[in-house]
Amino acid sequence: MKILKTINELNAFRNALKGTVGFVPTMGALHNGHLSLIQKSLQENDHTIVSIFVNPTQFLEGEDFHQYPKKTDADIKICSLAGVDALFMPQSDVMYAPLEPSILAPASKAYILEGFARPGHFDGVLRVVLKLLHLSKPTHAYFGKKDAQQLYLIQNMVKTLFLEVNIVPCEIVREEDGLALSSRNIYLDTEQRKEALLLSQSLQTATRAIISGQREIDVIKQEMKEVLRPLHVEYVEILNRDFDTMRTIVLSNTVILVCAKVGQTRLIDNLWI
Ligand code: AMP
Repeated sequence: MKILKTINELNAFRNALKGTVGFVPTMGALHNGHLSLIQKSLQENDHTIVSIFVNPTQFLEGEDFHQYPKKTDADIKICSLAGVDALFMPQSDVMYAPLEPSILAPASKAYILEGFARPGHFDGVLRVVLKLLHLSKPTHAYFGKKDAQQLYLIQNMVKTLFLEVNIVPCEIVREEDGLALSSRNIYLDTEQRKEALLLSQSLQTATRAIISGQREIDVIKQEMKEVLRPLHVEYVEILNRDFDTMRTIVLSNTVILVCAKVGQTRLIDNLWI
C-alpha cells in the first residue's frame, strides 16, 4: 500500500490508475464502521483510495479538534491488511491555503439538527469533501448513513455541482448490543457506555411503534423521548429523506435522527425507514 502525503504524490498515483476507483474519506481512528466502507469499495472497484484527515474547518471553536483520537499506526495496518491501494494522509497546510473561496452548504438543510448545534460544521465538511473528490477523482465515493445529514448534503453537492462521482451510502455498523460504532465512543467510561445504548434503544422503540402501525410522528417522538429521558437530548427528529418535516411516517422515505450528550460526548444515531 502506498502512503501519500502531498498533492503531487496523490496526482501521480491517481493518474496512473485504470478502471474504477473507490474513495473512502475518513478522519482516522478507524473502526469496523470505516472498514465496512473500505471493504465495499474494495469489492466494487478496481482500486481503492482511503484518506485520513482530521479536517480543521469542520470543527467549531472549543470542539475536540485537538483531542480527536489519533491511531495512525493501527490505521495504516488496517488499511494495508484490508488491501487498500493507497492511503492519503495530508497535513493541514497541504489541504488549505490562507486565501480560498468559500463553500457554503445550503443553510435550510445545514443549520438544522447537527448544523444547529454546530453552525458552519457542514460548510467545512463540504469544503474538504469537494477538495478530496477533486484530488482523488473517484468513480465511486463511500459515505456512512451514520452521518445521515452529511450524506444528504454531500449527495446534494455532487448533484448540484455536476460532479462526476457515484456516492454510495453504506449501512450503519453497530456493536452487538446496538451502539453505533464511532471514533468518539472511546471517550465513554463504563457507565456512560451503558447509557449510550439508550440512543439505539430509542430507535428500536420507534421501529416497534411503526411495525405495530403507528404513523403519527409526534406520538413516536414522544415515545423516543421517554426512552432518552436520562440523557441530555439535543434532538429527536423524524424527517423525510430530503430532510423536510412531515406529520406522518411515509415508509421508504423516512429518517429518524437522534442526538444526545452522554457526559461531555455528543452521540448521534439514526434509522432509515
Ligand atoms: P469519520 O472518520 O467519522 O469522518 O467517518 C468516515 C466515514 O465513516 C463517514 O462516511 C461516516 O459516516 C462513516 N462511518 C462512521 N461510523 C460509521 C458506522 N458506525 N457505520 C457505518 N459508517 C460509519
